[in-house]
Parts: sequence; C-alpha cells; structure tokens
Amino acid sequence: MTKKFDLCVIGAGPGGYVSAIRASQLGLKVAIVEANHLGGICLNWGCIPTKALLRSSEINHLLHNLGDFGFSAQNIQHDFAKIIERSRAVSKRLSSGIAGLMKKNKIEVFDGFAKFLDAKKISISKDGKEIEQIEASYFVVATGARARIIAGMEPDGENIWTYREAMTAKALPKSLIVVGSGAIGSEFASFYRNMGSEVTLVEMAENILPVEDEEISKLARKSFEKQGIKILTSASLKSLTKGKGEVVAKIEIAGKIEELKAEKVIMAVGIVANIENLGLEKTKVKVEKNQILVNGYMETAEANIYAIGDVAGAPWLAHKASHEGIIASEKIASKLNKYDAKKVHPIKKENIPGCTYSMPQIASVGLTEKKATELGKKIKVGRFPYLANGKAIAMGEADGLIKVIFDEKTGELLGAHLIGAEVTEMIQGIVIAKQAELTEEDLMHTIFPHPTMSEMMHEAVLDAYGKVIHF
Ligand SMILES: Cc1cc2nc3c(=O)[nH]c(=O)nc-3n(C[C@H](O)[C@H](O)[C@H](O)COP(=O)(O)OP(=O)(O)OC[C@H]3O[C@@H](n4cnc5c(N)ncnc54)[C@H](O)[C@@H]3O)c2cc1C
Repeated sequence: MTKKFDLCVIGAGPGGYVSAIRASQLGLKVAIVEANHLGGICLNWGCIPTKALLRSSEINHLLHNLGDFGFSAQNIQHDFAKIIERSRAVSKRLSSGIAGLMKKNKIEVFDGFAKFLDAKKISISKDGKEIEQIEASYFVVATGARARIIAGMEPDGENIWTYREAMTAKALPKSLIVVGSGAIGSEFASFYRNMGSEVTLVEMAENILPVEDEEISKLARKSFEKQGIKILTSASLKSLTKGKGEVVAKIEIAGKIEELKAEKVIMAVGIVANIENLGLEKTKVKVEKNQILVNGYMETAEANIYAIGDVAGAPWLAHKASHEGIIASEKIASKLNKYDAKKVHPIKKENIPGCTYSMPQIASVGLTEKKATELGKKIKVGRFPYLANGKAIAMGEADGLIKVIFDEKTGELLGAHLIGAEVTEMIQGIVIAKQAELTEEDLMHTIFPHPTMSEMMHEAVLDAYGKVIHF
C-alpha cells in the first residue's frame, strides 16, 4: 500500500533534515528519504570532518611554536591515522545524532533513492529494487551536490583525490597540488601545509578565494605564502598524468606551460547539483545551469514541489541549505493552514555569511568593495588591523584585518570582510547587525566588551567615520 504524507523531503543533509524537523514541529505528517547517510555531505564529508582535521593541524602549528608562549618540548610527533580516525569519529557521532532527531520529531525515515513518478508520488529504491512508493501533498527536494569532475582529469582515489579521499588519507603526502582555491581547496591546503606537506595551490582566477573581497584575498595569499604554501594564480590546469607514485600536472600561466610534480592532487574545482535520475521530467520543475530554479520561498515551477540547499544553487553552504529548509516548510505549512503566511520571509542572500576555516580564517557577508563600487554606490570603508587589538596580541594572533563597508548616503551596512583568528565566530555579530538593518550610528553606540577581538568590529565601524580610537 502506498504511504501518504503531508510532506516528503528527499535528501537528509542540513537542508533536508532541518526542513523535515520544522515541518513536523508545525504539525505536518513528514517522511524523509535518504539514499546514503543521514546528515548529508555536511556532517559526513564536508563541514564537520574538515573542521576536526583543521583543529588537529592548528594544534600541530601551536606545538611547533610553543616557544612563543614560554614552553619547550622535544620530539613532537603526530599519528596521522589517529587524526583521520578522530575526524571520522566526530562525523559519525553527529550523523548518528540525526537518526535520534528524526525519531524524536516522529519523522518516518526511508533508506533508499527517491524518484518522482509524478508531481505527487515517488518511488523509493534500494540496490536497484523498488522498496516503497510514497504519496505526499508536498515535496522538498534537498538532494545536494557532489564534487565537479573535469573530463580527462578524473579522480582515481589513489593519487588524484576529491575531498572524500583528501579527508580519509592513509598517510601524510610529502607533496600535494590543490587545484581550486575556494573554501574547500584553501582549507585542505591549510590543513596539509600545517601538517607538514609541501603544498602548491593552483587557481584559475587572478586571486585566491576569488569570491572574497580583493584586499582580503591578497592578505590571505601573503599569509599562506609565509607559511610556505606555493601559490599559482591566473593558472589553468591543462592535464594530469600519473607516474610512479606521483602525478605530473601541466599548468598554463601567461601563455607558458609549467610542469609540476606531486605525490597527490586534490581536485577542488567546484560542485555539481544532484539532479540526475530524480524523475524531474515527470514534473514541471525547471532546471537551468544544472540547478533547480526556485523563487525566494524555494518554490519551483511545480506548485507542490520545493527545492532547497546545494541543488537549488549558490552559495553552496550548509547554513543556507538549513535556512531555506525552514522557509520551505513554513511556506508549505502556511498553505495547509498550519502557519501564518505573513510570518514566512523570503531568503535574503545578501545576508548569508561565508566562512573559510583555514589558517588564517576568512569570513564575509554582503558586498565586496569592488561590487559595491560597480553597483555605483558611494561608500565609506573602515578597517581595523589585528596588530592594534590587545586581545589578539595577548593570544599571539596579531595578523588580520576587519573591513566594513557602508553606504555613504544611507549608513546601510553593505558588507564586511574579515581575516584572522576567530573571524568565523565574529562575523555573526555583523550578520545580526545587517539582518536587523542597523546603521553606522547604532553600531557606533553599541558597547563591546574589553578585551575582545570583537572590539575590532567596533573600531572598524568607527574608522569608516573618522572616529577610530586605537589606531
Ligand atoms: C569538503 C567540504 C567542506 C565543506 N565545509 C563547509 C563549511 O564549513 N560550512 C558550510 O556551510 N558548508 C560547507 N560545505 C558545503 C556543505 O557541505 C553543503 O553546502 C551542504 O551539505 C548542502 O546541504 P544539502 O542539504 O543541500 O545537501 P547535502 O548535504 O549534499 O545532502 C543531500 C543528501 O541527499 C541525498 N540524496 C541525493 N539524491 C537522493 C535521492 N534521489 N534520494 C534520496 N536521497 C538522495 C544524498 O545522499 C545526501 O545525503 C562543505 C562541503 C565540502 C565538500
């Protein structure tokens, strides 16, 4: 017999499972279908295991700089297998917690691959066999994305890695080429360099971390290079050839081909949405440039089908997926008269923060200086360096910058760009200010605790208006 639900969520990543919980809280009868692992990429192969690895490399860095803090230690060793094991254990602990959350929220979990038969019905299969059919009044597609593969340079799991092999390596490679310097590539470059590998970071764009503010990207480059990461920008990977225990990469820079050799290559050249074999052609859902088209409420062209997270386009971030999941579920509940439609707000993409957890960390929200200028805005820019902040100096973290951008006419906070220790925690202060539409005056009148790194956000705002105190 076909099971019937108010809502069926397809995919249990941070988009899907959050959407399912919110819908259940609002009184909907909810099912979730997951083909591989509860928690999706984020908990199993993304955000969480990489943060566990980066924590180990931070500790390695500290241990090799103990003298700065008045300590000494000899013969510092690491056990690479244990570092990987810890990362996998952290991941497992969190993803198994999702099963508990589903149970607590009375969400029925189906273990299998979902495919639309029509707009109101899916078939679920496991190992190629249909195990269930489900009918639902509404569907949320949250099938996520996977690593982008370049034809002719396919990862082989041995010498050419995607993020999966990069986070489950059996041994520390002596040398490594990371192709792509977005958040994923930069985090792996940082991890492996701090663990002791020779790392070359190859980026096609003019700057590393190309979506970030140019000034911040340049500071990141300087810091990475100081740590010994070799960086090639405006560099295009032409081929990868496997040799004995090494890979030869041909890279074009300024019209010339350079040959690089390394034990391993990590391909971090973007991601591709999981839209195949979903039966979307049986629905009116529209796909463009390999992503499901949605409006601000995550509605697709098919009235009862919503799409959220990585499958619905950039930015490819877990917190964006989760927030979209909440919007979709509240919208659906409002249609079923279980939630006040006036309380549902469309996503504001300009308020989604982006973080890179490398050393140094990078965090940003809103417009870059270049983008604001291109949009014809008259802006006021404030900056405050870490080297003038007491807490940062006391922590031994005096490298970094906080930069804020305001609309000169209205005082609207247009963007903020941060680099340095703990900026991935600090950015949220700015996101709240931006979401609440605080002006420069509100921020200047806000009292920040001392001594904290967050004081730098205050000083950066003061700097934009010629009132900076400590610099
Ligand atoms: C190495 C790495 C590090 C990252 N670090 C961060 C970070 O620090 N912060 C951050 O915000 N983001 C990070 N991300 C990105 C983040 O992981 C994704 O943005 C996020 O997981 C997207 O969530 P989602 O719910 O849209 O999809 P996913 O997490 O991809 O989940 C989709 C789920 O759907 C399932 N599925 C697919 N098709 C079907 C089907 N037909 N039927 C049933 N199930 C299906 C999949 O098995 C999967 O479990 C990182 C990504 C990577 C790869």
